[in-house]
Amino acid sequence: MGKKKTIDYDKNKLKEYKDKRDFDKTTEPSGIKKKSSGRPKFVIQKHDASNLHYDFRLEINGVLKSWAVPKGPSTDPSDKRMAINTEDHPLEYADFEGTIPEDEYGGGTVIVWDGGTYRNLRSEKEDERISMQESFDKGKIEVWLEGKKLKGGYVFIKTGKRQDKKWLMKKMKDDEADARKKPVKSEPKSILSDKTIEEVKEKMKDHE
Ligand code: MN
Repeated sequence: MGKKKTIDYDKNKLKEYKDKRDFDKTTEPSGIKKKSSGRPKFVIQKHDASNLHYDFRLEINGVLKSWAVPKGPSTDPSDKRMAINTEDHPLEYADFEGTIPEDEYGGGTVIVWDGGTYRNLRSEKEDERISMQESFDKGKIEVWLEGKKLKGGYVFIKTGKRQDKKWLMKKMKDDEADARKKPVKSEPKSILSDKTIEEVKEKMKDHE
């Protein structure tokens, strides 16, 4: 029998997330355990940090696996969007909207730009049937999104070497593909508050 390595995902889960933040200063969730319920979730947060980007997060094994997508997602299958893998986030981060203080990690305003549930397309293929964790570890994820704005198949492919954090995000060719939609431009508002990131930023300033 070959040696089977057991990886304790729980042990260091969210360590990097917690190490990077001072929860006395930021209103971001501290990652107290929250149980997942129902179908796995995804969320896309628009984040006006030093560089504006979209944080794409997929619920996998009790955490939100995360990627920073500088240009945001596209509904055009001919677009390849760079997606940089970032630290796992706690599940309750999916509802976070607000302003992180300037001097803190990720300082800037966040809105929940899109979200919903997803299906693992690779687990539905007869010749594959692999889990999301396995898909992540192997560097190729195929999901069907049921968001308010984004729907349909998306593929994430890790590029380059093992330690490299660069991935590519691409819309699959299906009935939900639409080269003209450009939701990043045409649908800028939060799905939680119906506010733009500028409006959330202004609101936070009023409370100072
Ligand atoms: Mn971010």
